[in-house]
Amino acid sequence: MALRDRYDFESLVNVAENLVLRELEAQLARMGAGMKGASSAGLKGASSADICTCQDCVLDMAAYALNNVKPSYRVSLMGSFAAGRAEDAGYAKEISRVVREAIEKVRANPSHD
Ligand SMILES: [Zn+2]
Repeated sequence: MALRDRYDFESLVNVAENLVLRELEAQLARMGAGMKGASSAGLKGASSADICTCQDCVLDMAAYALNNVKPSYRVSLMGSFAAGRAEDAGYAKEISRVVREAIEKVRANPSHD
């Protein structure tokens, strides 16, 4: 019998995923690259124009960042997964750096024209 059938892996989460998505959202907002549907409080006319925030680009950014940051898997019991590495300042800094890199890579080389 397959392990996946015998055990529930739903509570196995990569904390990096939450941190990367939150950081990506914050950095895009700071750059004024307002996401669709969200009212943009960003700086008008800044470098926002050339950052595409379509579905493909944002997912590419997230994938790039998640492939370049150390994963941090935990077993989440009732939402207790935010502790641990998330409190590590060095880890937060690494995520911030990798997300910045991800935005730059995708901006310079989007998967569409
Ligand atoms: Zn795009």
